[in-house]
Amino acid sequence: MVSWLISTDLDGTLLNHKTYDYTGIVALLAKLEMQAVPVILNSSKTLAELTKWRQTLHLKWPVIGENGGVIQVDQSPPMLIGRPINEIRAFLNRWRDHHGQLFEGFGDWSVEQVIKHTGLSREDALNAQQRLVSEPILWLAEPPGLVLLEQALAQQGLQLQKGGRFYHVMAQHSKASTLKILLKNSDRYLGDQTDWHLLALGDGENDRAMLEMAEVAVVMPDASGQYLSLDSNNQIYQAQQSAPQGWLDAVNRWVLKEAE
Ligand SMILES: [Mg+2]
Repeated sequence: MVSWLISTDLDGTLLNHKTYDYTGIVALLAKLEMQAVPVILNSSKTLAELTKWRQTLHLKWPVIGENGGVIQVDQSPPMLIGRPINEIRAFLNRWRDHHGQLFEGFGDWSVEQVIKHTGLSREDALNAQQRLVSEPILWLAEPPGLVLLEQALAQQGLQLQKGGRFYHVMAQHSKASTLKILLKNSDRYLGDQTDWHLLALGDGENDRAMLEMAEVAVVMPDASGQYLSLDSNNQIYQAQQSAPQGWLDAVNRWVLKEAE
């Protein structure tokens, strides 16, 4: 029997992009739990945000936060893969001193401003501010400056990753590279099974590598109904509905085989 492992993005994939609706997800996750299917939340969100979602969704599996920058298993101290946030912000501030205020980031914003830019509740916004290894920024200027910033970041071993709402400044890690670390240490974190079939679900550029490494890649429509086009010889499935329904349909179809 195939042992499925699910790695999923949250915003726009498991949660509705606009409303954060997740109707039906908890019930389906309970079914997956009964079949011992690990579900890894793999997100650009912080561990503080993911801890809340892990509780809300009754998930016991490790979580990967900040675009692969950090792993947390149970309540143990986070394993940092990325560069500490204070180093990243110090570099960004130095760059702005020379090039002007071409962007704003979470480090510049009050909780009220984070709420304004994300639509998150106050509690969620406070959790989103608890960053360890990545800085989301909002680009305010013309595109050429972004290329300059990207080049300067590369010289520091940092990168710019495009997410749903923001660009994320962070070290050279991804949802995929950190998922591979978890899979390599499968016996420690995921149970006895080692030969997993990966079903990955995502909607954004920061999900690309994770989707391309999966046996089954479920691509969710983005906010404008477009799909990421993947370079993969494996199964690619374009969800016909947005989150959460598209997530439910895909997991039912591939893992629980209740469709058709
Ligand atoms: Mg997303």
